[in-house]
Amino acid sequence: MRQRFALSACGTYNRRLRMMTQTKSVLRDLGVRSGRGGITVKSSKELDRMQEAGRVTGEVLRVLRESIAPGMTTREMDAIAEREIRARGAVPAFKGYRGFPATLCISLNEEIVHGIPGERRIQVGDVVGMDLGAIVDGLYGDSAVTVAVGDVSEGIRAQMETGRAALFAGIAQARAGNRVGDVSHAVEQEILRRGQYGIVREYVGHGIGTQLHEEPSVPNFGPGGHGPLLRPGMAIAIEPMVNFGGDGTTVLDDDWTVVTVDGSVSVHYEHTVIITEGAPIITTKVD
Ligand code: MG
Ligand code: MG
Repeated sequence: MRQRFALSACGTYNRRLRMMTQTKSVLRDLGVRSGRGGITVKSSKELDRMQEAGRVTGEVLRVLRESIAPGMTTREMDAIAEREIRARGAVPAFKGYRGFPATLCISLNEEIVHGIPGERRIQVGDVVGMDLGAIVDGLYGDSAVTVAVGDVSEGIRAQMETGRAALFAGIAQARAGNRVGDVSHAVEQEILRRGQYGIVREYVGHGIGTQLHEEPSVPNFGPGGHGPLLRPGMAIAIEPMVNFGGDGTTVLDDDWTVVTVDGSVSVHYEHTVIITEGAPIITTKVD
């Protein structure tokens, strides 16, 4: 099965495929320290910086949630994102990543991920996914949230709650001694338990640290008990994408924006988490 990181920026289809197939060699070429299975284990200093990068990412997403209003353009949202990241002494993680032209991925309604900010005006009833990354001293945070602007249907509210709940079901399994498949399975089961949604399969979560995307891939589906073993000091981004209709995806002519094939609304939630001996640290969660 084709599978791509849900990264928040990945260029054309071919470039995405290349990235998937070459991840191991790219990591080797970059001299990235690898644990078993090519997954990096971070030092305590790196984990401190990851927590800082996560905090910035979470804070700026909160500012965006508080700022969004009907009539604003998606470009205005992007400007807020970049200004707020830089005001905190951090660097936007997505801008220039594989040629992505903006700080914020902003994806409306049937758009799943990787929407490019522009002149489109946000309207009442829009379901807006915002995906953001920040870098602090070379370490990354990556997080996404979906918000409804004004009133939306009960069905869409339930879909959004499903996406959120699936993310936290996955996070609860992100523990030392579990396997990546345990996270994936928990995400999938939480979604299936709540309704007949489409679970996006062609874009997945990922390891994260000194790179935005590291090994392993973290799918939002699959059997438990499989995949790489999670160890303290690893970090992963968990990011379910839940469609109101089918799970099919396609990419628009801008080579970035991923949309549902059937035009149904999609929601996306993401946190960066650090594996510890106990409960995971959610670096991008701010309360
Ligand atoms: Mg991500
Ligand atoms: Mg992201």
